[in-house]
Amino acid sequence: MKKWVYNFDQISDAEALMDSWENVRGLLGGKGANLADMVRLGVPVPPGFTITTEACNAYVAADATVPEGMWGQVRTAMDHVEVRTGKVFGDPSNPLLVSCRSGAKFSMPGMMDTVLDIGLNTEVVKQLAVISGDAHFAYDSYRRLIQMFGSVVLDYPDEPFEEVLAEFRTARGVTSDGDLTTEDLMAIVDRFRGLVPEFPDNPNEQLKLAVEAVFKSWSGKRATDYRNAAKIPHDLGTAVNVQTMVFGNLGDDCLTGVAMSRHGATGENHIEGDYLFNAQGEDVVAGIRATKDLAEMATDMPTAHAELLAISTQLENHYRDMQDMEFTVENGKLWLLQTRDGKRTAQAAVRIAVEMAEEGLISKEDAVLRVTPDQIDFFLHPQYTIEARKAATAAGNLLAIGLNVSPGAAVGVVVFDADTAVEWVEQGKKVILVRPETRPDDVHGMLAAEGIVTSRGGRTSHAALVARQFGKPAVVGIAELDIDLEGRTMSVGDRTIAEGEVVSIEGTSGEVFTGALPTVIPDMNDRWLTTLLSWADEFRRLGVFANADYPADATRAREYGATGIGLCRTEHMFFEAERLPTVQRMILADNLEDRQAALDELLPMQRNDFKGLFEAMSGLPVIIRLIDPPLHEFLPGHDELEHELRDLVDDKSVSHDAEIQQVEKVLARVDSLHEENPMLGFRGARLGILMPEISRMQARAIFEAACDAADAGFTPIPEVMIPLSIHVKELERLRALVVEVATEVMSERGITVEYKVGTMIETPRAALTAGPLAREAEFFSFGTNDLTQTTFAISRDDAEKGFLIEYVEQGILPMNPFQTIDRLGVGTLIKLAVEGGRKQRPGMDIGICGEHGGDPESIAICHELGLDYVSCSPFRVPVARLAAAHAALNDK
Ligand code: PEP
Ligand code: MG
Repeated sequence: MKKWVYNFDQISDAEALMDSWENVRGLLGGKGANLADMVRLGVPVPPGFTITTEACNAYVAADATVPEGMWGQVRTAMDHVEVRTGKVFGDPSNPLLVSCRSGAKFSMPGMMDTVLDIGLNTEVVKQLAVISGDAHFAYDSYRRLIQMFGSVVLDYPDEPFEEVLAEFRTARGVTSDGDLTTEDLMAIVDRFRGLVPEFPDNPNEQLKLAVEAVFKSWSGKRATDYRNAAKIPHDLGTAVNVQTMVFGNLGDDCLTGVAMSRHGATGENHIEGDYLFNAQGEDVVAGIRATKDLAEMATDMPTAHAELLAISTQLENHYRDMQDMEFTVENGKLWLLQTRDGKRTAQAAVRIAVEMAEEGLISKEDAVLRVTPDQIDFFLHPQYTIEARKAATAAGNLLAIGLNVSPGAAVGVVVFDADTAVEWVEQGKKVILVRPETRPDDVHGMLAAEGIVTSRGGRTSHAALVARQFGKPAVVGIAELDIDLEGRTMSVGDRTIAEGEVVSIEGTSGEVFTGALPTVIPDMNDRWLTTLLSWADEFRRLGVFANADYPADATRAREYGATGIGLCRTEHMFFEAERLPTVQRMILADNLEDRQAALDELLPMQRNDFKGLFEAMSGLPVIIRLIDPPLHEFLPGHDELEHELRDLVDDKSVSHDAEIQQVEKVLARVDSLHEENPMLGFRGARLGILMPEISRMQARAIFEAACDAADAGFTPIPEVMIPLSIHVKELERLRALVVEVATEVMSERGITVEYKVGTMIETPRAALTAGPLAREAEFFSFGTNDLTQTTFAISRDDAEKGFLIEYVEQGILPMNPFQTIDRLGVGTLIKLAVEGGRKQRPGMDIGICGEHGGDPESIAICHELGLDYVSCSPFRVPVARLAAAHAALNDK
């Protein structure tokens, strides 16, 4: 019969069936596999067993029916646990209590269900009170079981339970449940049983229902939403771990806590954690009682503390990664309840990876692979300047300081619930989600928000874990923050902030300010980041260039590690306020003379733009593209002009004849330039062919600038790029034009500058005729924005607003092709063009400059297709460096 259940000490049976540890984790879940692994390592783990993910999948597939033989195997496993513990499940005279927890292959904190203290009933609790000598503990455990059973297994709301507890606390004049008397707890148990009439007295029945609840929670909305956001497949299923309860709430020689083997926010190589005396695990995570810092445990309980430190090191060395552990000390004896690779901030991920490689625990390749490109992106997130923070503090705008659990600055309006957060974000607002504490059903709001604030909860609270995982700035546990969910306000002392008011939070320091603080981009010179990226550079084959139009962008790109400009969109400069009128005059000119006059005015401006680029990028290639967009983009819209015309005609106070004439002229030109689909018409190479004087001016500006830069001691490497070509004849003509101007300028100046002329591949025809194109083009650059729109025949401007998102949601397209290269379609065209081009011109440089150049998945495709470089926005350069290294390492 199929094996559905494995005791923790049967890990080798599971391994015998599976060909890798990865698959053992798939079968037993991350938690179950690690518990069993810890047992083998000799770490003290309370005995228990794991019901496999296969059982969960079988249960889901069979419409909530447990697979045949499973309960029998559970009974056998329980027998084994009874032998190991010397206790008996359901026997009042010597009761065994167990917990029942979910544990999928990938951790999904708080997303699925847990029931503790299973095995208690009216009889057992009485005896437990006697055996433990602690009736308070026994009844407290019992009321927890009924409450958890009610809410988790039977889906009752939490509030009625909390109301009963509050009523007793008020009557007793205490603030903590722990301060209620045993009599209170007994009365609460009665009240709770009234709230949950179906609560089964039979421990086996309790266990069965709890196990099924865990199975069911895998398909629940909470877990499904989380998997969607975390990109975890939906068919993995969850395992269920049934484990002997150990109690951190049996008195003053008991405690329970959580620890990270390294600092989860900074990455510092130092164990950190929190614990609570006389408490159960959920109390630590809930953050209702103030926890103690793990360092204090050294004096509170030195032996257990030393043992924990040793185990932490042992586990880290074993798993070769930072560990997140749950532990309990029961009557002085330490138990580990869980270990897993710890969640960490981007900064911590980088530091830990680099330091572990430096310590020799992992290789440099591993270190590079352990940091995701998205985590690098995080370093480029906004932060507040020291000055802005000082000024805000001096102005009295520092509202409160909480725990700094997830770094980065975020500004937004306060919103008090997840649904409103999503709604407001859909309306285009930026929001900060403020909650007393977050729960799994707040995740959609957390994902929508810029940042998260809670008044309760600790470093390992739900809010902190989720925020860190998704890179959202977060400040939690602001004790003095009073949130009035009904009144939709929050206050600190006598200051009140209403929903909709702006706040600024700083997840690195834990500060919350009123009003909006200006943000800046952080320093990329972090020692660990620099080291990691330098290792990435050793491994990658792809070059990383930047798309930059202005010298300042080029300088930043170079600082971030770009080794060239892959695209300068020259026309961007035409839109500047002082240039646009000249550009418009150039377009509206009736004759060549007038057009040339306008172009002559533009020449020095363009020359200046390019000179700055050559200087910033001295010694590196700068690819400058000749004018590309349809000309109407530089002119006002038809409706706008008509409106203006009407106003002028209507205003009879003075004569507007001259103005009216001018507007009419512009309108006529706008109408003549009108195209139904301008993005596919008179633009790109066509413009350069039919208005060669524009290309001539641009070429002159490029080569004069190059000569100027060379004169000033720089090493300009200009490469002129012809956009949107569809025919080799276009390239023949435009190339001849560029060469003619270049030769002219260089002989005027008596300077020789090496240069190239190439083209963008942005249409299927260009890709399919890449061979002939390469006769004229010395390099290719894939403009995958246009190549995607022309291949799909869908407009890049409209598609994403409409059906494309639907297509992705409905699974017709696996992803948005404007975000990640469509491997089968566009990818095949790229492949053909690379082959065709290189056959004609061996060794020619080929890159990509569409937005895909900054997308990690597309970068992997570019690596595969043998491109020489990717070019992306300056801010994506570090991300692309790492993604290119991943592509190379994964290719090995
Ligand atoms: C492209 O089409 O991919 C490209 C880089 O050019 P643009 O976005 O300017 O059309
Ligand atoms: Mg383009």
